Amino acid sequence: MEICLINPEASLYRNPSKHLPKPLFPPLGLMTVAALTPEKHNVTIIDESAGSVDFSIHPDLIGLTAMTAGAPRAYQIADRFSAQGVPTVMGGMHASALPQEALQHVDAVVVGEAEELWPQVLADFEQGQLQPVYRHEYYPDATTIPPARRDVVDINKYIAKYTLQATRGCPFACSFCTVSNFFGRTYRTRPVENVVAEAAALRGKPLILVDDNIMGCPGYAEMLFERLADLKTTFLTQASTTMLKRPELITKAAKAGCRALFVGMESIFPEQLAKIGKKFNVVDKYKELVQRLHDNGIAVIGSFMFGLDGDDPDVFERTAEFAEAAQIDIGQFSILTPLPGTKFYEQMHRERRLFERDWSKYGGSHVTFRPQGMSIEKLEAGFEWIYQHFYSWHSIVKRTARRLEPIVWLINGIYHKRVHNWAVEIQH
Ligand code: SF4
Repeated sequence: MEICLINPEASLYRNPSKHLPKPLFPPLGLMTVAALTPEKHNVTIIDESAGSVDFSIHPDLIGLTAMTAGAPRAYQIADRFSAQGVPTVMGGMHASALPQEALQHVDAVVVGEAEELWPQVLADFEQGQLQPVYRHEYYPDATTIPPARRDVVDINKYIAKYTLQATRGCPFACSFCTVSNFFGRTYRTRPVENVVAEAAALRGKPLILVDDNIMGCPGYAEMLFERLADLKTTFLTQASTTMLKRPELITKAAKAGCRALFVGMESIFPEQLAKIGKKFNVVDKYKELVQRLHDNGIAVIGSFMFGLDGDDPDVFERTAEFAEAAQIDIGQFSILTPLPGTKFYEQMHRERRLFERDWSKYGGSHVTFRPQGMSIEKLEAGFEWIYQHFYSWHSIVKRTARRLEPIVWLINGIYHKRVHNWAVEIQH
């Protein structure tokens, strides 16, 4: 069969594609689905962030994935192919949270992770017995996660070309986050051998480990870092603030090549963190954490959200002041968004505070519910302000002037320019 997998365009966060020369990542989820597809079938991937959908094609089957912000476009694409008689299947976070909604546009929905289910979908489809919903009774064993197929996308169209995943799941249950609902509340770890073999095949290229908390399983992280160190690679990944309890792991991550860490700080107010179920973030320790990461040569990408219950209009200025004082290298700011499948969505629904039903606005840069401590307009304006402020030259220099090396690693990754030597000279 000819199978075409499509990642629809979605406006996530503050549309970084407007400011960056290329889209950030290739669609790892679809590249994994491609790897799960039996070899007898021919698979292609269309990623709308890097190209457009050709509606004149007529594959045997279309497979779609989408986060909530991409769902309306996924439905449009599905409707057009359905009208041309091409059967469609949809998976991903949004369809898994709202399968009945997705079924109004597609022939079948895959709820949850694709391992085990996707080969079943294809087998049923070949037999003419496609079921409307596929879901597993348990979370798939992480040993079944195959290396992604990188031959089915043009990797050069992306900034961070080499994404891979070592673990899935998260034991925490932050009310706004889809991860523990979708991937479960335990860490499932791929065998270190498998991850290292996949990374080794990329021959020292800078990697993005897309794990939600790479240090969540300290014993596993330690083994992984030790093996990655042998590859002489560099990487960016994510970890929770709780890593500060394991300073030796931070050092091992740095030795393994970690040059930047995405850290979900979310808020600088403990009361707000408690309301979103993220009490384990200790605000008093944020600066110490950033300092420790910097001491290890790791740049910090700090993520903060606005519009939490308890946030009032001065939250933007206070967060910016804090992030500058802490010398956070890159800030990812977003408006709290009630994503279907989360406790926060249920809460907003229960409290009748949801007013936006256009899913394309659920990408973290629009207000979709009535905030408690400020008007919708103030929340939108404050969100714009903090981006303008934080990315002014004045703020950038203030935060990063004394530690150019990790920043240069990021710039090299984004623009593929070798600015390393002159930057290091300036630093000294
Ligand atoms: S925000 Fe991070 S720590 Fe919280 S549930 Fe999601 S992945 Fe886990």
